[in-house]
Amino acid sequence: MRAIRRFTVRTVLPPQLAALGELVHNLRWSWHPETTDLFAEVDPVVWERVGHDPVALLGAVEAGRLRELAADRRFLRRLADAADDLREYMTAPRWYQSQSDTPQAIAYFSPEYGIAAALPQYSGGLGILAGDHLKAASDLGVPILAVGLLYRHGYFTQSLSPEGWQLEHYPSLDPGGLPLTLLKDEAGVPARVHIALPEGRTLHAQIWVLQVGRVPLLLLDSDVADNDTLARDVTDRLYGGGGDHRLLQELLLGVGGVRAIRAYCRVTGHPEPEVFHTNEGHAGFLGIERIRELTEARLSFDEALEAVRAGTVFTTHTPVPAGIDRFPADMIERQFGGSNAWPTVPVDRILALGAEPDGLEGEKAVFNMAVMGMRLAQRVNGVSELHGEVSREMFQGLWPGFDMAEVPIGSITNGVHAPTWVGREIMELAGRELPALVDRSQGWEGIQRISDADIWSIRGRLRRRLVEAARRRLRTSWRDRGVSAAELGWVDEVLDPDVLTIGFARRVPSYKRLTLMLSDPERLRELLLDPERPVQIVIAGKAHPADEGGKKLIQQIVKFADMEDVRHRIVFLPDYDMTLGQLLVQGCDVWMNNPLRPLEACGTSGMKAALNGGLNLSIKDGWWDEWYDGTNGWAIPTADGVDDPDRRDHLEAQALYDLIQIEVADRFYDRAADGLPRRWLEMVKHTLTSLGPKVLAGRMLRDYVDDLYTPAARSARALGADGHAQARAFAAWKLKVSRAWPGVRVEHVETSGVGDTPEVGTALDLRATIALGELQPDDVAVQVAYGRVGPHDELAAPDYAVLAAAEVADDGKAFYRGTVPLDRTGAFGYTVRVVPRHPLMASPAELGLVTLPEEPAGMTNGTLR
Ligand SMILES: *Cc1c(COP(=O)(O)O)cnc(C)c1O
Repeated sequence: MRAIRRFTVRTVLPPQLAALGELVHNLRWSWHPETTDLFAEVDPVVWERVGHDPVALLGAVEAGRLRELAADRRFLRRLADAADDLREYMTAPRWYQSQSDTPQAIAYFSPEYGIAAALPQYSGGLGILAGDHLKAASDLGVPILAVGLLYRHGYFTQSLSPEGWQLEHYPSLDPGGLPLTLLKDEAGVPARVHIALPEGRTLHAQIWVLQVGRVPLLLLDSDVADNDTLARDVTDRLYGGGGDHRLLQELLLGVGGVRAIRAYCRVTGHPEPEVFHTNEGHAGFLGIERIRELTEARLSFDEALEAVRAGTVFTTHTPVPAGIDRFPADMIERQFGGSNAWPTVPVDRILALGAEPDGLEGEKAVFNMAVMGMRLAQRVNGVSELHGEVSREMFQGLWPGFDMAEVPIGSITNGVHAPTWVGREIMELAGRELPALVDRSQGWEGIQRISDADIWSIRGRLRRRLVEAARRRLRTSWRDRGVSAAELGWVDEVLDPDVLTIGFARRVPSYKRLTLMLSDPERLRELLLDPERPVQIVIAGKAHPADEGGKKLIQQIVKFADMEDVRHRIVFLPDYDMTLGQLLVQGCDVWMNNPLRPLEACGTSGMKAALNGGLNLSIKDGWWDEWYDGTNGWAIPTADGVDDPDRRDHLEAQALYDLIQIEVADRFYDRAADGLPRRWLEMVKHTLTSLGPKVLAGRMLRDYVDDLYTPAARSARALGADGHAQARAFAAWKLKVSRAWPGVRVEHVETSGVGDTPEVGTALDLRATIALGELQPDDVAVQVAYGRVGPHDELAAPDYAVLAAAEVADDGKAFYRGTVPLDRTGAFGYTVRVVPRHPLMASPAELGLVTLPEEPAGMTNGTLR
């Protein structure tokens, strides 16, 4: 029999222990070891049994034990200290409070959050990043207000069948068993959001608040009695179901999320966000909802669009076109059109925002959430420099006529939250030797002062802890696969705490190439079984439940790791989650990553390994392309020019085996007389000093604040002032310029100042005649683009200079002048172009308008001597 409904009966704490409830209900415990020590002390056995879940601990601990603690002075003193520490953490001024001109609050939207293993509301990197973003924001005092969905069945837990096939189990989560508080209005009635659906249906959701340090995370939950069955299931699972289900999830996240924020701010007095940040396209409807709010407050659609864009930041996360979120356009039309249309938001305008430009596999009938995200945000970024570049190429079609380098998509490289991912021993060593180091971007040179012996001893402890945990987990996995305990004696000998340990853990989409290491099984076997310098490999990863191909890859790895001759040196550990992730990134000596370049947008697990003194062995993709410096790890040579995928895999695999054998193992096993691997430790120290300050989520947060949040707030304030006067003016100006643009022409360009054979060091005087049509000289910038030209007169990476308006004739023509320095020898060319100009534009490409001479580039080509 199955229960039709479940709930959790909460413990009533004795009043002396009330502060325990406070500590449990703030997820700061998940990165504060002193607090988890206190939880463990409540009942060490139960604490282990409930998998370090404090709510479950309080539910399971005996009432007698609680009475005992309530009378234990020492415990009460420690409890009071911990509670004081939390209150101080929540209120003391931090980095953000010393900055000026910053937004009063920032809304952050993400479909998943990886905050603690006890809250399985994440599937992979996107969610983990969102969790780290909130934690780092909390540590720095950045006033983020976050929004997501509460999935009643979290992401699946993974086990293996006897044949090594992935099996999925969906846990049932009960909000009463989680550290959540239901948002209630002033009258004590649960706050609700409602979204009208076609055919007269309504989607209702309640709002749970999860406190992540200083950051409130609002989680929308459609499992309420007012909903019909379908609506009730909207938040049943993460990325479950097909198109309709996903659309409803995204409507709830985007539209419902804004409404939840409004309700939260109204009830609690929290300041309203000035900036809205969307982590990937799934929450894109938030922009439509904000346009609705403003149009109902009497702005036109275009005016509202400008006001919304100014304060919106969009982060794209995938360089894989198949990874982009798209819907059939008629689904959007059904939701936002017909009798369900919002009176002030025409469905045609919504459809236009998500329409793909030609060139991006353009299909008219598709609605693309990423494209909408970019049109609704004035500031867009990728998550590493290389990914920024790939994104500019991928989305170039949205800004036709502009060079790739001018596509207004920047990048902020991801980071990781040190207190979550770094082993406690390392945090303590760092804290002892270099106070506050892990928080800061400076002072990391101090690592060099730590003794080799100290580092090596901690690395050994972390490796041993991984080996012991791996044996326990492997035993459980074999029991699940139907093998009796009597047959599993060999598991106690699996892995060796002194052998070079390589980790490989990630989701299993094909581009991550889980099985590249199996490319030549004999070669791999040789590395594992090397009598002098063996390596051992620990592998983990989940395949998406619908990805049969990924499950086959897992099965191949499992079958190999099952073989008797190698099973003590290579293991697959099921159920990769944050807990296993922590064990792996802390315990492995080497973190291996072999994606197909450039499909890894950033990758963060290698950063976690680096902060723990692990060395990266990776294809130069994502963050590693940016920060590999030749000696802080190893780069697997990529064969990304080779078209045949099998041949490419073969070449890269051979390079990988060679590197492991010749470089990695050699260094690890090269020991000095005192047994220390000096050359290895030198590399570890260099890794920590060169990468430590960069890979921190705190660095990432400061970049977001400085480069995106603060400028976005500034623009939003400018546009919103005086009843949105500037938004109205800016929208009117854009409309005028777009209409008049066909009348803009470059009529004539002439040069003087150099003779027939120009010499380097001279300058070219330029005079351009521009037909402005209906526009004024101030509405445009006339630029000269100049520099080296290629064989077909193309300007590869031109410099730009602005020409000054000289005079305006009566017939709408204007003359512009300027000079171009001839500062390089060789083939040289220039051209003139006209682009719109307005102080509120964030980039010259913003309107997607540009006019070039009818004659192509290099009207006057010359060779400089
Ligand atoms: C860090 C982490 C990820 C993301 O790592 P990638 O390097 O981007 O693959 C995914 N899952 C878990 C459990 C993690 O801890």
